[in-house]
Amino acid sequence: MGESMLFLSNNSNYVTGSSPEVLQRLFQSYVFPQLLYGAPLWIFGLREKFRYDEKFEYGYGESWKKLRSLYRRCGRMILGVHPNSSGEGVLVRLGWLSLDYLLALHGLKLFLKLYHGHGSEDLQTSTVDRGIHPKALGHGIFFQRAYEFLKYLNDQSDTDLCGVRILKNDKPLREALFKDLDRCWQEYEGANQIRQLHAHWTGTSINLNMRCKIGTSHLHGACCGTGVLRCDLYASGVMVSDKCRKGCQVKETLDHVILGCPFYAKERRKLIKECEKLDLDVNVKNAMCHPELHLTTERFFVALSAKNV
Ligand SMILES: [Zn+2]
Repeated sequence: MGESMLFLSNNSNYVTGSSPEVLQRLFQSYVFPQLLYGAPLWIFGLREKFRYDEKFEYGYGESWKKLRSLYRRCGRMILGVHPNSSGEGVLVRLGWLSLDYLLALHGLKLFLKLYHGHGSEDLQTSTVDRGIHPKALGHGIFFQRAYEFLKYLNDQSDTDLCGVRILKNDKPLREALFKDLDRCWQEYEGANQIRQLHAHWTGTSINLNMRCKIGTSHLHGACCGTGVLRCDLYASGVMVSDKCRKGCQVKETLDHVILGCPFYAKERRKLIKECEKLDLDVNVKNAMCHPELHLTTERFFVALSAKNV
């Protein structure tokens, strides 16, 4: 695992590193396969009732937390944001599933394969009714909990998630998993800055391209509330003042930088023009999250980090 992490960490410097998109690909190619190896079978052992907000089974928690924190660390590296950025928040911004649900997705697809007879007949029997059928095979935790979780998701979905078609197109299953994560996101306390920009935990992706690494890192950092904006630096005790670095006597917030500060008038004119072209409202949420505006908004953060810092 250490070696494959190097592919990511060696390229993830927030000033000189590769674009978030390239880093995400490195993660998918080198790190994720190692996380996935064998996981479909053990992932359901994590919790008696497999839900994001349920307690872990005794004995599983500590090693699981290490794996989960590694996954979140990868997310932070991809965005180029501070290690203190909320783990959940980073996943929400990236439009990623949580690690347990991502591994469960693969587990559920394995279950569905067996359920529809893509394994042996005995394995198919095991997926259906373990209690009554004498031929049911072992590994009860996988069969019982995967089935229970799939039924739970299916009850809330408009699509038949138990159908064989999910094996060809797993989008409805992914959407059901995101829907359940969103239920937890609504109750999650913390990650306030990200919550203002991303009200829901969905698979919707932001733009991971960039023109300038430091600009893009600072843009994502500002979204996480752990970036270089004075309001965040002041809140974390790094700065003695939260006033705008350009001399305005107001707090340096995202709102001020994107919509108010006279110092960024040139960048703002470009942003307004782009918004008009795309028929979008000029607001902070669109500026920071809309994929088509990302490279335009990045200019604010290049300007912010280039002068009078
Ligand atoms: Zn200002």
